[in-house]
Amino acid sequence: MPVDLDAYGAEAEEFLSSIDREYYLHYSGQQDEFEIEPIYERHASLFSRASVDSLREAGAAPALIEFAVQGLIGQELKAGAAELARREAEIELEWDGETVPFRSVAVLQANEPDADRRAELEDLRNELTATKLNPLTRELLERSHALAGELGWSSMRDLCQDLSGTDFGALAEQTERFLADTEDTYEPLVGPELETQLGLGFDRLRRSDLTAFFRAPSLDTGFPEERLVPSLTETLAGMGIDVDAQPGVTIDTERRPKKSPRAFCSPVRVPDEVYLVIAPVGGREDFAALFHEAGHTEHYAHVDASLPVEDRYLGDNSVTEGFAFLFEHLTSDPEWLRRRLGIEDPAPIVRHERAARLVFLRRYASKLAYELELHGGGSIEGLDAVYGRRLSEAVHVEWPTVSWLSDVDPFFYVARYLRAWALETHIRSALRERFGEAWFDEPEAGAFLRELWSAGQGAAGGEGILERVGGAELDFGAVRAEVHA
Ligand SMILES: [Zn+2]
Repeated sequence: MPVDLDAYGAEAEEFLSSIDREYYLHYSGQQDEFEIEPIYERHASLFSRASVDSLREAGAAPALIEFAVQGLIGQELKAGAAELARREAEIELEWDGETVPFRSVAVLQANEPDADRRAELEDLRNELTATKLNPLTRELLERSHALAGELGWSSMRDLCQDLSGTDFGALAEQTERFLADTEDTYEPLVGPELETQLGLGFDRLRRSDLTAFFRAPSLDTGFPEERLVPSLTETLAGMGIDVDAQPGVTIDTERRPKKSPRAFCSPVRVPDEVYLVIAPVGGREDFAALFHEAGHTEHYAHVDASLPVEDRYLGDNSVTEGFAFLFEHLTSDPEWLRRRLGIEDPAPIVRHERAARLVFLRRYASKLAYELELHGGGSIEGLDAVYGRRLSEAVHVEWPTVSWLSDVDPFFYVARYLRAWALETHIRSALRERFGEAWFDEPEAGAFLRELWSAGQGAAGGEGILERVGGAELDFGAVRAEVHA
């Protein structure tokens, strides 16, 4: 039976909205239950093989087919994924005579001032990952590869490329060039920052030190809790957006015992009901997280309501991630730091962010190259060594191979992030060119952004946004120029 595209789209929206509402209620600490299983059951037909086939036959929007295919694969793997989550939640280890849950070790490690103890923590974590988690993770990965084949694609790589419309080969060429071009500047730029934050340089750096480097607690002092939410509302006001008067936006700052410590955005109805949830604590990373999620929130809240569901909720996530990075970047922008937080010498924060971003970019560039092999359709035997080699070469640190399966976001989200970084740099330089260094204090810049946000992330995706900005190519030229500035 041919699929009724309007009815399918309406049901997809109902499903997405229900999932996001459940997520919002649970993680904001207002509801103990997190019952997404009944929602999946209620809408099981969205992810059936028949739906996928008829969407393809009907020539539905790729974003809608992608939604159906990812849902189908998710449904097939859900028992295994639930088992993996259960094991991960159960694993504990002994540390300083106390029992510590596996999932909290990463935070412990990021906050541990002693490098040898950080390495010990990571060894413990790696050992448990290898023995307790990797066998099942591998099984799930191979099953997803088999499903891509059953659905008629030659590999997971082809499936994702086909449905996302991103030419992964062309993107990888760009990111390889980025790696080559920043090879010589990498250590001179990052090394001094490692010394400042950790008291060691590349000669003694271990992978277990990286999260502590990103964490950089010495930079927290300029970011007090009482300025967290006001700095955001003032920034939006500077752009001509009165967030308290936005009917579609709720900023949830209430304290609740079971609220997630991490800020998140929940687009329950796009654009009419979007939640920005934060448990205000303060510190530099809290500001970055709040602004990142505020970028998502304002993007979703300004999407043109008349667009079809695939252009409001789905499609090229590089777009919403790009706006999230744009807002996040403000929290390390010297002019913003002066105006919103009264920081007289923002240079240390700016230098740290530049260095941390370069580590991230190079890490993700090498991850893309690795994932293209991992999902390329051949055997995955021995690819742990490929993963370790590529990451070691990019980050200039001996990279453990054990995370070759867990350090992979599904469906090439790595490409969305890379494209988002490129998109963000282009948008930011356009904003500075048109509205000056303090573009975030110009209502015209807000109007300019609202125009971009209204497009959603439809057919044109990141490239479409850039066309509106002035026709630049979505490439790494601007990112590279910024690294070398
Ligand atoms: Zn994001």
